Amino acid sequence: MNGKGSFSATDLARYHHYNCDLFIYNTYNGVENPRAHIDQVHDSPTMLDAAQFKRGNDWEARLLTWLDEENLLLTVPSHPLKGEDFVENVLVDERDHFFVSGISIMPPQEHFDEMYRKAGLEPVKFGLAKPDLIEVVRSQDGVMWKVIDAKASRAVKTSHHVQIYFYTLCLNHLLPQSFFRASNAAAVWLPPEDGFDTNPPSLDDLKTVETSLLSFPLDDFLFRRLPAILSLPRKDVFWHYNPLCHGCTYSRDCQQKTIDQGEIGSISNISIPEARLLRSLLQIWQEFAGISTTHRRGETDIEDLALLLEDSKGMQRISSSYPVTLRKAKRILALPPGAKKLSKSAASSPLLQAARTGKIQIIPRRNSTCPKSEDIAVVLSLLLDPSAPSGASNIVSFSISTFTSDSMFHGKIPRNIHGDRTDLIPSLAYIIDSILLLTHTFQNPPRTQFYVFSSAEDSALQTHFVDAALNSSYPTRDIRVCIGALSQGAALLQTTFQPLLLSGVLLDFLTKGRRNKHDFQGILERMNMSIEGNIQELKQRIQDELQRLQKDDSRQAAQQQRQDELGQLPRVVVLKREIEKSLALPIPGFWDLQECASVLLSPGIAPETHCPSEEEIYSVFARENSPFTLLTKRNEAIYAVLVSLRQRVSGVNNYLLVNEAKVLTSTFMDICREEHLRKLFYMQQFEVLTRLSDLWRSRIDGCPEAPILQYHSTRQGSKRLEHTFFLLSGDLDMVASDNDKTFFDYLLVEDRDYDDTIQCDAHIPVEALFDDLAVSNLVFPLNKYTKSRWQSQNLIVQKDLLLADVRDISVDGLRTRVTLQTWGEATFKFSEECTYRISPRLVDFNISKILSALFELDLQHELEGVSVPYIQIIRNPKLFNQENVGPEARKMLEKAGNEMQNLFRMLDGLDVEAAKPLVLKASQNRAAKHILSNRLSVIWGPPGTGKTHTIALSLLRLFSVYANAPNQFDVLSPRVVFVTAVTHAAIDAVLKKLTYLVECYKSIDSLPTEWLDKVSIEHVTNGNDHAAPSGSSAFSLYAGTIFQLYNFSKRYSILVDCIVIDEAGQLALSSAALVLRSLKPSSRIVIAGDSEQLSPIMVAKYPQLKTGPLFGSILDSLMYVSRPGQVGSSDTRSSSPFPDDASDGASSSQSTIVQLTENFRLNPDLGEFVSTIYSKAFRPQKVQARRIALALSSIPQSKTSQATSEYLKILDFAQRFLLGLSHIMLKRPQRDLSPPLLSNLKEHTHSNDLYSSDVAPHPLSLALIQLYTISRKHRDNVGYELHVKAEAALTAALIAVIQEYLPGEDIFVATPHRIQRQAVRAALLAQHFETLSELFDEMTLDGGKKKSTVTVDTIERLQGSEAAFVICLFSLPQSHITDLQFLLERRRLNVAISRAKSMCILMSSNEVLRPAVGVLTDGETAKGYTFLRAFADRAWSSNVSVDIDALNL
Ligand code: SF4
Repeated sequence: MNGKGSFSATDLARYHHYNCDLFIYNTYNGVENPRAHIDQVHDSPTMLDAAQFKRGNDWEARLLTWLDEENLLLTVPSHPLKGEDFVENVLVDERDHFFVSGISIMPPQEHFDEMYRKAGLEPVKFGLAKPDLIEVVRSQDGVMWKVIDAKASRAVKTSHHVQIYFYTLCLNHLLPQSFFRASNAAAVWLPPEDGFDTNPPSLDDLKTVETSLLSFPLDDFLFRRLPAILSLPRKDVFWHYNPLCHGCTYSRDCQQKTIDQGEIGSISNISIPEARLLRSLLQIWQEFAGISTTHRRGETDIEDLALLLEDSKGMQRISSSYPVTLRKAKRILALPPGAKKLSKSAASSPLLQAARTGKIQIIPRRNSTCPKSEDIAVVLSLLLDPSAPSGASNIVSFSISTFTSDSMFHGKIPRNIHGDRTDLIPSLAYIIDSILLLTHTFQNPPRTQFYVFSSAEDSALQTHFVDAALNSSYPTRDIRVCIGALSQGAALLQTTFQPLLLSGVLLDFLTKGRRNKHDFQGILERMNMSIEGNIQELKQRIQDELQRLQKDDSRQAAQQQRQDELGQLPRVVVLKREIEKSLALPIPGFWDLQECASVLLSPGIAPETHCPSEEEIYSVFARENSPFTLLTKRNEAIYAVLVSLRQRVSGVNNYLLVNEAKVLTSTFMDICREEHLRKLFYMQQFEVLTRLSDLWRSRIDGCPEAPILQYHSTRQGSKRLEHTFFLLSGDLDMVASDNDKTFFDYLLVEDRDYDDTIQCDAHIPVEALFDDLAVSNLVFPLNKYTKSRWQSQNLIVQKDLLLADVRDISVDGLRTRVTLQTWGEATFKFSEECTYRISPRLVDFNISKILSALFELDLQHELEGVSVPYIQIIRNPKLFNQENVGPEARKMLEKAGNEMQNLFRMLDGLDVEAAKPLVLKASQNRAAKHILSNRLSVIWGPPGTGKTHTIALSLLRLFSVYANAPNQFDVLSPRVVFVTAVTHAAIDAVLKKLTYLVECYKSIDSLPTEWLDKVSIEHVTNGNDHAAPSGSSAFSLYAGTIFQLYNFSKRYSILVDCIVIDEAGQLALSSAALVLRSLKPSSRIVIAGDSEQLSPIMVAKYPQLKTGPLFGSILDSLMYVSRPGQVGSSDTRSSSPFPDDASDGASSSQSTIVQLTENFRLNPDLGEFVSTIYSKAFRPQKVQARRIALALSSIPQSKTSQATSEYLKILDFAQRFLLGLSHIMLKRPQRDLSPPLLSNLKEHTHSNDLYSSDVAPHPLSLALIQLYTISRKHRDNVGYELHVKAEAALTAALIAVIQEYLPGEDIFVATPHRIQRQAVRAALLAQHFETLSELFDEMTLDGGKKKSTVTVDTIERLQGSEAAFVICLFSLPQSHITDLQFLLERRRLNVAISRAKSMCILMSSNEVLRPAVGVLTDGETAKGYTFLRAFADRAWSSNVSVDIDALNL
């Protein structure tokens, strides 16, 4: 044995990387055969590993140098340090903030041993710990410290968290608590995104995590699981040889053992979860057959699998009891769907057969992503340097080789081109241009296909393009050519959208104003057309083009192109993927190009081809910086492998490779010239391309993750037939939308993998033939005008595919019931025997509108020479704000604002009731004055600060000022105003507020309100049908969603004086162009929102621009660019708006941002909690009504012993819980709830006179219920549906009690998922709580007029509204933790919790409150989890167990 007998933090980190118990076991105890192992380890390749280390070391050195230069570094001697030594070093240093490096410490072994002993476990030993840095911050209270490790990765990993937590644990025991305080945080310091060679380190790149969050999972690992693994007999330790093993010291041992023992790892590329699934399949089979798990039938796992596949009865049994497991296993083993009917069917799993026989096997499935031939193959090898200090893409060198078997093309294109990173785009553009030239020269243009070997190269290439397009100084033509030729879908995008886009804009251009020659040339240049000729000729050329576009032949050409691209042949084929799809290689664990070439190319095929290893190429690069010869050889090997693949596959079945390569085209829309507009125009296209390529990638594999539905029944719905299915596997949710439109946004097909009677092994998935773009902007059901677009779909699509709209998702018994409406002409009939696969399609009504708007703005900017407000606010919002309003006008407008505020304050003082709402609070009044006297106002308002009220009243004040003194204010008159937002709910809220405030004005007798007659307010619900502006009012306000106002303004060519965007955090900057395009050059913009609430969804990843964010919401963008100072991380940006106003909130004349600080909705404790994610604390304007505490206190005392059913027990819990809360509020003793870890009551009692009265209750707005669902029938594995039902029953009980004792208070139930919404509604209607059933007579769902209103809805639909009580359902069972990332999105949590006016009851579960450590590596999820924990730490809480069996569901 050669084990270390102790662990370093790095060992613990590696364990989490490999996710392998054997790794940690071997490290501690040694391997079985130490001599053989040492021999193997010695010949391991190391240059690439060294490169990984080098990048880490380089980054650490760079960081230390920078800290030293900044006078922030203290280096201590590197021998093991004692606590007192550290104190001494810190004490002699006088700086208040610095970082200590060079530390090594011995872990507190005795303390750890004691912990193990107490738990009855064998102690585990640990070696020297060496954290990179300790951050020290000195304050009056002492010294605060924090562990920081420098990591050169591009993102934080679980292994990093393990290390920093372990160091923190050690230091916690080492450092004297009297002098040092741990900061409850540790951090990973990452290099700047753009690379650390050209950029200095930044404190913004410190990725901090709270150590208390890590302690739940990591203490469990260190002090329970780790000793348990080490105490196992070696044979029982879990391991599986898989692609993650790459780089492990024990790789050779495990590879040999895998082969010797016939483990599942003998099959290539089987991940750990897949291996577990195959093992559980074997276990099921053995249990069915009555064989003990220790007694196998075959000798090995792969022999057992073979026997299982031959056991047709066993397969039948598994198929009926565990259909989902069997389906997944079939997919993993590449088993044809009809396999279970075959005898000796092991041979039909080519993967298994390759592992058993050691021979290459063909996978008999059609492959539509690898062409069967081409005239020109272009092969790219990209060298990615793990040590590169650069940012997003780490391409350092490349070689491009072309191969052609057709002598016609010999010598006409470059054979090989190579170079470094900066040459890549120009070189590719050169090759593409050379091939395009041939396509124009030859009658039969060459069919061309691009290839790379690995997915890593493919994604590095695509990232390089996006980065170059949005963030670099490459010639734009080269970039356009590369994207047009190599980005999947770019050409389709152009042929689909360009005609729509250009014809509208060109028509506008030709009919509007006088044009000079330069204008015509500008347009023609954008369309890549000739700019030669006189003005008449130029005009004629444009008119001809317009006619051509209007004739729709481009659309027909696009349709033809789509037909040609059936099966989505990728622009760049990733050869490794294709080999995995079509061949089973007899290589255990995983393989690279060299190993693949070694089995495919010999004997006989290209024996002379030498395939250099990755290590060989990298070594040459590291030594000589000239790897080009080897890269070119690699290209030759890739091509030889491709040829071999084709020969082998076609040799067995000529129909397996179904596609031919296509003629190369390079088209990508690039028609904007202004830098920002061009980037936004690109981004908008990248969004669609990314969505499409995600869909295509999944479809071509038969949508392996798609939910599977089993048909149940059909009935007549209100308009169409509704089909009911049960969900067999996968997750399905309804799109959150604030209206009930049908989008038919899913594809529904028969899932023939389940259908053993149909031999469909050669079938391409129907979804892969579906053309999204042809119908993405159509309203379904189609009408007679649009139906032809459906008929352009492939005939198989028309015959075998339906579009589906999810109408409802609910729990039915133990299952999820899904109700669908369908549209289409498919010939199949729904049958209970059959299962169906449902997957999303692209629906986008707006892309062409947004692109048109950007193009229009670009033309206005360049050709009309006018100021374009949209561009101005992106480039320099402050300058925009200052233009057009002189200091005199500004002062006069401010004065008018003050006068109005004073007037209403005076009326309020005179007890004029209606004047109260017309008086604004201090920060609101600042916002209103700002809006009045500035061109640009960004009103940043956290939840409950009255954004909508402020906007509405500001608008009325604006009208009032201009209407009452028409001659005094001659600038920026708000004659036409648009008020807009993304959702209908937000528009309704503004209109409601305006109506209310107008009534207030009118009801004050002494107030002159004639000016209100000059103001018309219209709700634009349908922009295409809305009446034309009448012009009869002096001031017109139109409120509608951005899409409706776009249609309305387009239809009547309306120019607008002022645009107000509410909930602007939800609106992408690019989409804002739809309304901002209508602004007059001299106009006013008001942007209001909260950057901590739901944001626009972006699917692609974009570089962080030095000029500020362009690819997020308009609110984020303006808050960022308006902020004085430097570029910051997105973290800083979202949580801290840095308003120019100083800490007292007073705005300066330069500022554009005003933050609202008074909070009208949230109680002080809830406000304090929510404000933990905002830069400023709120000023609470309300306190919880004593009435609430008193009302709840009349709930009768518990009668647990009398509870005879589970429902009564639940009701009893709800009563005790709410009664307990009232006792706490009334400062009475109670025993049912645990106090919060962090109490903020005391501080408030001192600091806020709202609590000065003795009779005031404690404010208590944060309550937590931890729900445990238990079941004897379902053992540990309570399914999601059952859990949701228990959660819903408890919710219904809480509602029943609140309604009984506080009947006038509104209640929201915020549900992340639709299925929860339906479950709660069903539980409410089921009236399980009979003792309170009479209450339900008073209750209506969703906004009824009776006094108690319960609204149960998804969070997206609740944004912008509020209720006294909010119950947030954030619990999950163990079986469903894949949903955690969605649940833990901070903006979603914030929206849900901050709807509460009096109390928020959060229902959660252990799985959410104590997630696995890996969850915290995603920055956004970690932020959400920190927020959730902050709630839990401040909340009074109670646990409840619900026995699902007893609910009789
Ligand atoms: S090679 Fe793989 S299976 Fe073997 S110890 Fe390492 S990580 Fe575990």
